[in-house]
Amino acid sequence: MSRSKIWTDIDLDAEGKICGYFRLPLAAHDKSGDDAGYSYEPIPVVTVRNGEGPRVLLMAGNHGNEYEGQILLMKLIRRLEPKDIRGQIIFLPAANAPAVRADARISPLDDGNLNRHFPGDPNGSPTAMIAHLIECEILPRVEYAFDFHSGSSSMEYTPCGAIARSDDPDRFNHSLSYLKAFGMPTSMIIENSTGGDGAMIGACRRAGVFHMSTELGGGSTVSLDNLTLAERGLERLLRHVGVLSGPNTAEPEPETRIVHRVPSRDYVYSDSTQTGLFEPLVKLGEAVADGQIVGRIHYTNAPWKAQEPVYSRSAGIVMCRRVPARTRLGDCVFALARDWQEPPSATERPAEDNYGGNHV
Ligand SMILES: [Zn+2]
Repeated sequence: MSRSKIWTDIDLDAEGKICGYFRLPLAAHDKSGDDAGYSYEPIPVVTVRNGEGPRVLLMAGNHGNEYEGQILLMKLIRRLEPKDIRGQIIFLPAANAPAVRADARISPLDDGNLNRHFPGDPNGSPTAMIAHLIECEILPRVEYAFDFHSGSSSMEYTPCGAIARSDDPDRFNHSLSYLKAFGMPTSMIIENSTGGDGAMIGACRRAGVFHMSTELGGGSTVSLDNLTLAERGLERLLRHVGVLSGPNTAEPEPETRIVHRVPSRDYVYSDSTQTGLFEPLVKLGEAVADGQIVGRIHYTNAPWKAQEPVYSRSAGIVMCRRVPARTRLGDCVFALARDWQEPPSATERPAEDNYGGNHV
């Protein structure tokens, strides 16, 4: 396996708290620009280590314009000291750092979506190099990886933790316990697919690392309510896996509603052939029926033309909605999910379901 070309002068095996950068050389990509010959792209990294114990990766900025997770991790980085833990926490609070700096979902250097680039390539584009660094240099060091997402600029989510459904009952029940410990009002089980192999979920599966992600809001802003929920949830989660020591100030696990999302079934699209303004008719968390009119498209170029209804294609509760009003053919306007029932029936488990992939 090729070593990463991204270098660092911090020792990830050292005891204590160390803050620094992974340094992604830009010269090979001819992206250094007129005023930055031989420059590198800095990717912030922090390790906090105190002897033996659980080893955890906390990651945000996988998509650069999803902010709650980035703030959550920056606050924890500044607060956390080695005496507070046993084991190790590695922080990547701005994983796709070029995208974070650009306030963009994908990297401005190569249009790369980090969450579609795993397992990456040490000789590839900057985004592929970052994916390779995470998969081949960081994941082998940890047992748990928690990847904090929100809905980017285009979607707004009801706050939730999310795990992939697994056919391994022991592993699945283990992951379910993280969802419950994180304790958002809603927790989502994602029906996984071959399309997930390029995502962090796929990287963790290959590495044998327990994975949980989140959706903590969206719309390129920061939700105070969701950030507060996530801060409490993260403390419970880190205590649950045993990396956080000291007095237990976390609240007991709150009730969480566990739901199941199957992309081809639960994604609601605008099928209008003309671009228009999307009027949502249901709210986050609301229950909708199969075939219900959940929105309308209005045509600003022909205001007299009849509005076009948007229908749900299944019953479920609204997990997320499109944020921009301007909507065109093929845009996803809602994603639904159904209450989790264990085990799901065969008809609810399409093996090769990859419509829209997994958002996380
Ligand atoms: Zn994301």
